[in-house]
Amino acid sequence: MSVLFASDVHLSARRPEQVDAFLAFLCGPCRQAARVYLLGDIFDAWLGDDDVRDPHPRVERALASLTAAGVEVAFAHGNHDFLVGEAFATRTGCRMLTQPARIQVHGVPVVVLHGDALCTRDEEYQRWRAYFTNVANQAQFLALPFAQRLERAAALRLESAEHKALEIEDIMDVTESEVHEVLTRLGARHMVHGHTHRPAIHELALDGEAGRRMVLGDWYRGDTVLAWDGDGPRLCSASEL
Ligand code: MN
Repeated sequence: MSVLFASDVHLSARRPEQVDAFLAFLCGPCRQAARVYLLGDIFDAWLGDDDVRDPHPRVERALASLTAAGVEVAFAHGNHDFLVGEAFATRTGCRMLTQPARIQVHGVPVVVLHGDALCTRDEEYQRWRAYFTNVANQAQFLALPFAQRLERAAALRLESAEHKALEIEDIMDVTESEVHEVLTRLGARHMVHGHTHRPAIHELALDGEAGRRMVLGDWYRGDTVLAWDGDGPRLCSASEL
């Protein structure tokens, strides 16, 4: 059985084709999977667990149906959906991951994370990340009425960040030394992440041993996911699974 990984779907009512494709993925290939890892930026803008704008309720229902069918679904925050919280987890049956997480896939230790924390050369982004991952800042934001959160999100230039995300060149790539540091610290040689929108499987050499850094694709230009079965990991189109 496959373990499936997806990230950077950036679900938004403005892009109904991607919503349909992701719902088809959850209701189709994911049903046959052993486990599913959703590694961040699944939602394009999640302003709290009371953010019931379309397509959020439809996606929650599909996730709840998937977990009710016995498929384990793990969810990691991205920089667009870092406010996904406990109520979402309860409603959908998803297990929230603390990042970076060390998991086992077919007996192989693998580190999974969204990937933005690896982009250490982008100092401006890391300052913004330190702000939005701060629990007190999050609580303050979530205490606002929803309409004010919408306004604040626009003021915080989340909208422009989203547009930037469309342009692959604007997202800085990971820092290789940071990748090695995280893998060494967690005792693994394999990593799966998203965020950079640069789908690829990179071979790594870690203290003379072979490893891999597997990067998921975004769903703006395709639907690249990672499927890992007994024969190993491969990047493929979700619609071809
Ligand atoms: Mn991201």
